[in-house]
Amino acid sequence: MKLNIQDTFNKELPADPILRNYRRQVEEACFSYVTPRIPSKPAVIHVSEEMLEAIGLDADEAQSDTFKRVFSGAEVMPGTSPYAMCYAGHQFGHWAGQLGDGRAINLCEVVHNNTRWALQLKGAGETPYSRSADGLAVLRSSVREHLCSEAMYHLGVPTTRSLSLSLTGDEVMRDMMYDGNADYEKGAVVCRVAPSFLRFGSYQIFMAREDKKSLQVLVDYTMKYFHPHIEGRKTDDYLQFFQEVVDKTLDMVIHWQRVGFVHGVMNTDNMSILGLTIDYGPYGWLEGYDPGWTPNTTDAQGKRYRYGSQPNMALWNLMQLANALYALVDDVPALEAILKTYQQSYPRKYFSMMGEKIGIVTQGEADMKLIQELEGILQLSETDMTIFFRLLSRVNAFAMNEEDALVVVQDAFYKLDEIQGEIKIKWLGWMSKYIDRLTEMDVVNVDKVAKMNAVNPKYVLRNYMAQLAIDKANEQDYGLIDDLYQLLKKPYDEQPESEEWFAKRPEWARNKVGCSMLSCSS
Ligand code: AMP
Ligand code: MG
Repeated sequence: MKLNIQDTFNKELPADPILRNYRRQVEEACFSYVTPRIPSKPAVIHVSEEMLEAIGLDADEAQSDTFKRVFSGAEVMPGTSPYAMCYAGHQFGHWAGQLGDGRAINLCEVVHNNTRWALQLKGAGETPYSRSADGLAVLRSSVREHLCSEAMYHLGVPTTRSLSLSLTGDEVMRDMMYDGNADYEKGAVVCRVAPSFLRFGSYQIFMAREDKKSLQVLVDYTMKYFHPHIEGRKTDDYLQFFQEVVDKTLDMVIHWQRVGFVHGVMNTDNMSILGLTIDYGPYGWLEGYDPGWTPNTTDAQGKRYRYGSQPNMALWNLMQLANALYALVDDVPALEAILKTYQQSYPRKYFSMMGEKIGIVTQGEADMKLIQELEGILQLSETDMTIFFRLLSRVNAFAMNEEDALVVVQDAFYKLDEIQGEIKIKWLGWMSKYIDRLTEMDVVNVDKVAKMNAVNPKYVLRNYMAQLAIDKANEQDYGLIDDLYQLLKKPYDEQPESEEWFAKRPEWARNKVGCSMLSCSS
């Protein structure tokens, strides 16, 4: 395989000197060398063409035996030294100590078209960080990660990517709903790709161990490759670095809110230092607009990571990162001032994004009220978020009254017969204000439609869609994986031939496992 391999992480950062693969605490090191587990009967079942191209491979190479072997873990490429990364983290608000890549193994870094890509297998066996788990991943969660990574990229949301999805031929025992009904599932490996898989927890671990030296080496490394415009190693440079991480994280969360994505497990070990969506576990997509919704059954009680809390949780996580960087900058007010920029920018960016979703450029108090009122009304009766905003672009303020406008969006309502009485009055009231607001603007309706359609996706990876692809894949039919992958490459396009996926979640999926509720088991 013609890959332009240029490793830096395992060449420039401190390595764990122990080479034997057993579970342990790893100190003063950023990673441990580890060899992927040999799968018994590997088979590639899907490849992302874009990602293939991005790392400099062509379609033929994806068909090769070498590709299959390398990206399932059967073979280590010459000149490479695979490794698992060491990190810690806060899980659900509590310090969890060392975590690390328990089932992820980085193969190498590739540079192509001036972009650096780390290639990482997820589900390729035990590492020193596997703790009590097996280092493996099942087909179910791997299909979800592979499809969603690529779908998010095409939605314009910063994310890690996925090159390939392979079966290992091995069986993996999982108790999917943690209810004592463990069963065998098919094992799988995804090859994830990102400029770097560093997380907030990668820095936190050194703070927790009071290892300032390693912390500085890692931050300097991060700045060298991912913030090259920041020059030296002075306090101000570290502060600028932190400001940039804050800005990127905020940008990512605003995108999540825009498309209705709920990450599900925003622990600090699942927060990318590059502001990428990382670690697709029990994530989900809002169907009915509900800020209180989380797909993660493990979080069903506290709902810490519900849709409406994501912006605050990201800030909480940034605070933990600030605590770690404090060792290098020793300036609490400066770090606090940077965190404050998040708090100040968030409402502005959020309302501006929501304004775009409804086709206005938000200007003042009245626009904020219009948006807040909409958020409230959307919750009065179950209303599909994706369908509502997509249909809203069809409201033509110059040719419609509020009654017409309500008819335009009515397919978004799960129970149309609930849209009467008080609820209907509220909807009509809002539509009337909305129409007034639109007519104030000096834009041609077609321009508004195009602008709105560019921020309101028509197609997202609804939870039940991923589950249908998984059910088929379990029967060795991988067609739907590719169909969805192709569909979600153009989420903002009309694609009339795929209208079946522009539909509310079917009733059978309302309470089905994998469609509305997901556990962390993967
Ligand atoms: P998560 O919240 O899924 O990102 O995982 C939290 C921690 O558990 C990370 O350190 C993972 O590497 C580890 N982990 C999750 N699943 C497994 C598994 N099957 N085997 C080993 N480690 C795992
Ligand atoms: Mg994780």
